[in-house]
Amino acid sequence: MDSMNTKTIAAEGLDDYPLMRTYGIPPVQFVRGSGTELFDREGKRYLDFLCGLAVTSLGHSHPAVADAIAEQARTLLHVSNLFETAPGLEVASTINRLQGGRGQVFFCNSGAESIEGAIKLARKNGGDGRHVVVSALKSFHGRTLATLHATGKLEMHGAFQPLPDGFRHVPYNDIEALEGALDSSCAAVLLEVVQGEGGVNVADAEYLAEVRSLCDKHNLLMMIDEVQTGLGRTGKWFGWQHYFDPEGDVRPDVVTMAKALGNGVPIGAIWAKKEVAFEAGEHATTFGGQPLAASAARAVLRTMEAIDAPELAKSAGDELMGKLLTVPHVLDTRGLGLLIAAEIDTAAIGKSAGEVALSCLEAGLVVNGVTPTALRLAPPLNVSPEHIDEAIQILTNVLGGE
Ligand SMILES: *Cc1c(COP(=O)(O)O)cnc(C)c1O
Repeated sequence: MDSMNTKTIAAEGLDDYPLMRTYGIPPVQFVRGSGTELFDREGKRYLDFLCGLAVTSLGHSHPAVADAIAEQARTLLHVSNLFETAPGLEVASTINRLQGGRGQVFFCNSGAESIEGAIKLARKNGGDGRHVVVSALKSFHGRTLATLHATGKLEMHGAFQPLPDGFRHVPYNDIEALEGALDSSCAAVLLEVVQGEGGVNVADAEYLAEVRSLCDKHNLLMMIDEVQTGLGRTGKWFGWQHYFDPEGDVRPDVVTMAKALGNGVPIGAIWAKKEVAFEAGEHATTFGGQPLAASAARAVLRTMEAIDAPELAKSAGDELMGKLLTVPHVLDTRGLGLLIAAEIDTAAIGKSAGEVALSCLEAGLVVNGVTPTALRLAPPLNVSPEHIDEAIQILTNVLGGE
């Protein structure tokens, strides 16, 4: 199959390509999407099993979200955070309820900003000389200077020294290593429940409980980065709820979210227990939670609650994981709900996972190579059984045809 879009984009002159090539040269230009389907500028149809990196969890052009955005655009776009608006208040109270209550929400515009805010909360609550945030190797927390230093993919740090002080990395799922890294300079532990960018690595059941105990013992904030895992993706509203009673007292102190919150409209949020939240003057942003983004998030949360999105993710995830194991050269799967990695026998097929992802794209399926040997799949939470079967067929053709 020819990669026509590569040619059409290339034909326009790569020397004059106006975007910084931070993401490589895109092989396709999408123009339209509907539910699980995407269409490129030549009208070719694709199944989107990546969702813009776990963002469009309700599928593309969801009518409830589209209507909310259109209506809000005609009603009130922005008034600044010196004033409150109804969409933001509803979204904040829904998030707080889904976290088990007794907390407060701060809105921002992206995942990295939510982590920046969490880092500030750690420093504020740590106080005198206690400012170090301990995070995991292979973690991903963002690309701003501080969140890049929190990110445990050390190869990303190289060119950007000096990074802000106050970060330390430990192996994931290793409680002794974490305990060994703690000292009187530490203010918080920051972890993902599933390391999305790190390869879809799931936290062990005992690990997070032990992290909670260590945080209590050393008076540290337990901060969970749910930017990728939050809002139903893992089969619970938030990934931490696989590990702790959602209604109980034992839970994280700070939870960050972003990606799926606006189904494609940029919005992020920090939830924190009331006793550790920001107070007047301590944090601010011009756009965070403004009416347009908040009305999209309100439509997302209302829709997700109406369809019980976490339950859909759980059942579709079980089905997809099971069927992946029937695909030739799939060695293993891991993940939670609809955040899944399929480990490929790349040695046998002589292709990296990235190259397999490109073949899938040409065959009409959007996935990505999350490690050199693993594909990541993150379809919409309301993906249909037919689309799952179609995706499995495409993968079977791509991987079986070697
Ligand atoms: C994507 C991601 C971020 C960064 O979010 P941006 O919106 O790209 O800044 C942070 N943490 C995790 C776990 C992510 O997956």
